[in-house]
Amino acid sequence: MARIQSIRGMNDILPTETPLWQYLEARVRDVLSRYGYSEIRFPIVEHTELFKRSIGEVTDIVEKEMYTFEDRNSDSLTLRPEGTASCVRACDQNGLLHNQIQRLWYTGPMFRHERPQKGRLRQFHQIGVETFGMLGPDIDAELILLTARLWRDLGISDALTLELNSIGNAESRANYRQALVNYLSGFMDELDEDSKRRLNSNPLRILDSKDPKTRALLADAPVLSDYLDDVSKQHFDGLCARLDAVGIPYRLNPQLVRGLDYYGLTVFEWTTDKLGAQGTVCAGGRYDGLVEQLGGKPTPAVGFAMGIERLVLMLETLQVTPKEHTQADIFIVSMGEQADIAALKIGEQLRNTLPAQKVVINCGGGSFKSQFKKADKSGASIAVVLGEDELQRGEAAVKPLRAGQGEQQFVALTELVNHISKNYF
Ligand code: ATP
Ligand code: MG
Repeated sequence: MARIQSIRGMNDILPTETPLWQYLEARVRDVLSRYGYSEIRFPIVEHTELFKRSIGEVTDIVEKEMYTFEDRNSDSLTLRPEGTASCVRACDQNGLLHNQIQRLWYTGPMFRHERPQKGRLRQFHQIGVETFGMLGPDIDAELILLTARLWRDLGISDALTLELNSIGNAESRANYRQALVNYLSGFMDELDEDSKRRLNSNPLRILDSKDPKTRALLADAPVLSDYLDDVSKQHFDGLCARLDAVGIPYRLNPQLVRGLDYYGLTVFEWTTDKLGAQGTVCAGGRYDGLVEQLGGKPTPAVGFAMGIERLVLMLETLQVTPKEHTQADIFIVSMGEQADIAALKIGEQLRNTLPAQKVVINCGGGSFKSQFKKADKSGASIAVVLGEDELQRGEAAVKPLRAGQGEQQFVALTELVNHISKNYF
């Protein structure tokens, strides 16, 4: 019978890959906890309306990328394409926002029906950070500092650039939108199809166009920074001053916009030239209007999300991965019913005494030869060998598996754990 395959763009993350994922996730968790952030978990599926209302009807995500389906009650549900909307929904619903400060993070799979390629999947994973209740640019700066520290911890700082822009408040954007539409309307014939359509529906997204002709037109287009009102300008200057003060370099990119409608004021991206076309590993910004837009009380908010797959690719590309992962430190080989039972007992004793070591028991029989093969493959530095003869003498053999660790020795079972912890770990 034909095998059933996974869905295109939805990858398995194999046991050879998970150690790197766990390493990355542990580093992120560590940094977040050092800045006082708490984890929040929310469902993978939400009412479709949540994403339509927050991300925006005329965005790539909502127009063509969402996994939307009817459940058995004919409710329209959607696999979350991102975490911010769900996070806001969860916080508001559970009363975490009103008159409170929140610094939160989450991680998990996100779903977008895009064309799968390197660094672009249909089920991908993000670690997202969202903060609520803080109006000034200090928290924008904190989020950037936190990510900068993470890149340093991971050893990838040199390969990342911070791109920064302010897209102003709603009024500034409305003024700018008009100026951009006026300008681009003069070049209707030269615009790509998507951009033509967006000229009416969502002109700011045109700034994000990858079409070379459209890009050329944009070079002379009006720039958003000239349309910022004083409050927006002040916020942005405040952020830049803070980044300057702590020595975080950034590149001002007046054409940086985000693909989600809820952003205002600060937007930023960390980009790299090491991953080809999919160069953004982390992106975010301020979204002071979203909580209210979703039915809550007005609440200032700012956050970002990073793409785990892209960061993993970066660690691999830059070869800054942690030391090779081994399955075992101690591998227990046994032969015969009594020895198999003794192996279980000794395994438990070793795990009691040496909590930092990985102890793997052969399980499932096999010749000594095949068991030693498994022991070698596991990466263990020693094998404990329990044969019928040794057992009868009340002994086990301890066999070093790596060069320079000396010869095999016979050790009394009563001394075994002690001997191993003293001589090998
Ligand atoms: P892009 O411009 O690359 O499409 P985006 O603006 O759609 O990204 P966001 O919605 O801001 O991305 O998501 C934040 C991060 O999540 C991105 O910077 C990227 O690292 C990651 N990401 C987004 N979409 C995908 C995907 N389809 N596959 C893998 N990672 C993704
Ligand atoms: Mg996208």
